[in-house]
Amino acid sequence: MEEKVIKAATVIVTAISIIVAGTLLFFPQLHIRAEENRELRAQEAIERKENMDALEMLQYNTANVDSQDGISFDQQLRIALPENVTPEDVSVENDYLTQTITIKIPGADENYLYNYPMIGKSYHIDNLTYESESEYGVIEISLDSVVELQKTSDEHYIYMDFLTPHEVYDKVVVIDAGHGGNAPGATKQGINEKDIDLAIVLKVKELFDEAGDESVGVYYTRTDDSNPSLEQRVDMANKAGADLFISVHNNSTKSGRMSSINGTAVMYDEEKASEEKGSMQLAQICLEEMTSALGSTNKGIVKGHEIYIIRTAEMPVALIEVGFMTNQDELNELNDDAYQKEAAQAIYNAIYRAFQEGY
Ligand SMILES: [Zn+2]
Repeated sequence: MEEKVIKAATVIVTAISIIVAGTLLFFPQLHIRAEENRELRAQEAIERKENMDALEMLQYNTANVDSQDGISFDQQLRIALPENVTPEDVSVENDYLTQTITIKIPGADENYLYNYPMIGKSYHIDNLTYESESEYGVIEISLDSVVELQKTSDEHYIYMDFLTPHEVYDKVVVIDAGHGGNAPGATKQGINEKDIDLAIVLKVKELFDEAGDESVGVYYTRTDDSNPSLEQRVDMANKAGADLFISVHNNSTKSGRMSSINGTAVMYDEEKASEEKGSMQLAQICLEEMTSALGSTNKGIVKGHEIYIIRTAEMPVALIEVGFMTNQDELNELNDDAYQKEAAQAIYNAIYRAFQEGY
């Protein structure tokens, strides 16, 4: 009985020795093969990448890093910095109007971007391009939403998170100054409507900036003499998921001739008139706040469904016609800094009143 056990043990020990010896002999071979496989995989990856656009490459590289290193990027992008480039050297621009993020990395050409690519994920990327521009590598990201960028960095990488406005703010407002650029709107006595619209909106912006209310996110379709298309203006409001869309204009008579007609009117979407806390009620709030602050004639709320931005906005919209540029007294007031400030304060108050009323 005991002898049998010893014999069996001997057989097992011998078998293990043979397996270990064999494995040791074979091991360098395995090692070489693994090396070859890796090279082959890298070669294949390069060939595959040549046929990929930048977005496919991002997804491919991210999947590879995910599976190889067990790193996961949930809604975060990571950009590798070239040697001797600090995070401060990299410029990141976030254009809310076009929902485009442009990242300029010094000392990085297009090849760099392909060799040391960005990895990560975001639910909001529509398209991605890598380009070189003089001494910069340029990454351009087109988004399906207005986003707020959260950027962190260390020695080797920049990390970016994209948050929707509502992930950052309780309430979101888009404010639109009418016309702009080579579209002056109404023009009377050398005064352009676009400039008055902008002046009032910039004064609204001052009020919001001064208040610094972190629960409200305010986005502006323009803050200079540019002329975004109507599509861009509405797109921005829709893609910001705005709770309110306020457009600021000034009126003129149909003929454009100077007249006694004066006062404030606010346009709304009559097709959505039945909506509770919709466009009509918002227009009413704006009208009340404007006329009581300015002492202007109440011209009422006006049907505006035929106006593109009113028709296509996905949220309650009000288009405020502050006053008539074809009325001499009102034109003088509209062109006056103090009057513009009062108008701005009234718009600001109307926005907060709308929030109070449940918008
Ligand atoms: Zn206008």
